[in-house]
Amino acid sequence: MNKMSLENIWFRYGGGPWVIRDLSWSLSAGESWGVIGPNGSGKTTLLKVIDGILRPGRGDVLMDGMSIGGMSRRKLARLIAVVPQESEPVFSFTVEEIVLMGRAPYLTMFTFEGSRDRDIARNAMERTGVLPFARRSMRELSGGERQRVLIARALAQQPKVMLLDEPTAFLDIKYQKAVFDLITDLNREEGIAVVTVTHDLNLAALYCENLLLLSRGRVHSMGRPEEVITEERIASVYETEVKVDRDSETGCPRVILRR
Ligand code: ADP
Repeated sequence: MNKMSLENIWFRYGGGPWVIRDLSWSLSAGESWGVIGPNGSGKTTLLKVIDGILRPGRGDVLMDGMSIGGMSRRKLARLIAVVPQESEPVFSFTVEEIVLMGRAPYLTMFTFEGSRDRDIARNAMERTGVLPFARRSMRELSGGERQRVLIARALAQQPKVMLLDEPTAFLDIKYQKAVFDLITDLNREEGIAVVTVTHDLNLAALYCENLLLLSRGRVHSMGRPEEVITEERIASVYETEVKVDRDSETGCPRVILRR
């Protein structure tokens, strides 16, 4: 895949109000994007539209010019992998079982996973640092470890694009950093394009090459973090006064709240 394009996407749940409005955006191979915006601005919905779980009411998602609407789930799952929010019921499985599920899009109805699939799953576990827990139940792991297992499963899918929905929401700063470092490595070293939804504006500014700022289902702005994270833009979209300065070492924008 060289390019994924969203063309004038509109989406609503049932007959409700539009929650994605005329959204156009494109992602090229190997890019890293953060999706930010207030609660309810449409971030999770956008990921589901990209992944084909939700179909847009109008507009289209194209992979190298081909509409994903006409692709099978298997084909799409070889292109796009999702790291969901932690709510998924994965607790009754072992780490190894979860990661092997990432191979499902490559299996046919009559085959079980073979040694190649096991090797790929093993590499994914090694890459994400969860191999030592391979035989353990998900239930026994910490939140940060579970998050890395879900990233390993996505990696085992060998996708071109990885979508992550608030991967650090429940993690302390050590695990937040570990997860963002890992996502950045996968992006740079494996060439996987990554799209990370996050509430943490400072982590987004620090780790993502590009940001997409959503406001009420529309693209408010997109570009480099220093273009998107400005006092005016953040204050207007989040309806909150903020101060934005720059990290003196990295030059990265930093959002500061004042009482
Ligand atoms: P975000 O991820 O930015 O918080 P969401 O994509 O979850 O935003 O939600 C966008 C809007 O869609 C919100 O107004 C939300 O209430 C609504 N919404 C989300 N999921 C559903 C659903 N399953 N049915 C109806 N409305 C929904």
